[in-house]
Amino acid sequence: MTMIQTHLQTVRARMAAACQGAGRASHDVTLLAVSKTFGADAVVEAYSAGQTAFGENYIQEAVEKIAQLRHLTQPPIEWHCIGPIQSNKTRLVAANFDWVHTVDRLKTAQRLSEQRPADLPPLQVCIQVNVDGGDTKSGVLPAEALALAQQVASLPNLRLRGVMSIPEPAPDFAAACAMFARVKAVFDALNAEGLALDTLSIGMSADMEAAIHAGSTMVRVGSAIFGGRPRSV
Ligand SMILES: *Cc1c(COP(=O)(O)O)cnc(C)c1O
Repeated sequence: MTMIQTHLQTVRARMAAACQGAGRASHDVTLLAVSKTFGADAVVEAYSAGQTAFGENYIQEAVEKIAQLRHLTQPPIEWHCIGPIQSNKTRLVAANFDWVHTVDRLKTAQRLSEQRPADLPPLQVCIQVNVDGGDTKSGVLPAEALALAQQVASLPNLRLRGVMSIPEPAPDFAAACAMFARVKAVFDALNAEGLALDTLSIGMSADMEAAIHAGSTMVRVGSAIFGGRPRSV
């Protein structure tokens, strides 16, 4: 087993323990392996150990990796865009990814829907929510989430799946749980409005246990699988 494969096992064990501690079934939470800054060879190592969902932040880097790995079809790799999307990158995102977690403006969503190639299934989308209130951060404020979600849900080539957030790192488990609970509250409020969302994308290497405790259905884990990154991203 390679180092990446050993790390993957450890992460899966952490997820299973967190699910058990939270009284949840372990299949309720899926693992998105965040491979940003790592090469196609690292993705293949994880894929060989059964990992099929990968998250990427940098569109150009991702598009190259996706092209290199097109031959892996049994099973197919599911590519998730988890980075900020500039307007001039929506076409590449729409053509190459299966999911986008970072929709926080109607304009971006409209472009993604218009530019989604007709031969591909709808792009799976999460609305990014900012629960810290920092006004320079990505994400809609909780009060704006419903309006955006309803508009996104009406776009023909997108399928709204849920809510994503990247809260600031919290000092301890209880504080992390409290922050993630704010995201869960947005998720629950949208579902109460009939949006039928199934994906709550919260939790990273350092705080996946708290996120699972708060109701995460998808944790996005990078460094705990692939190791430290050269850039602090
Ligand atoms: C990099 C990144 C992750 C993974 O972070 P780790 O701390 O390495 O697990 C998750 N989500 C987003 C949006 C990221 O940019």
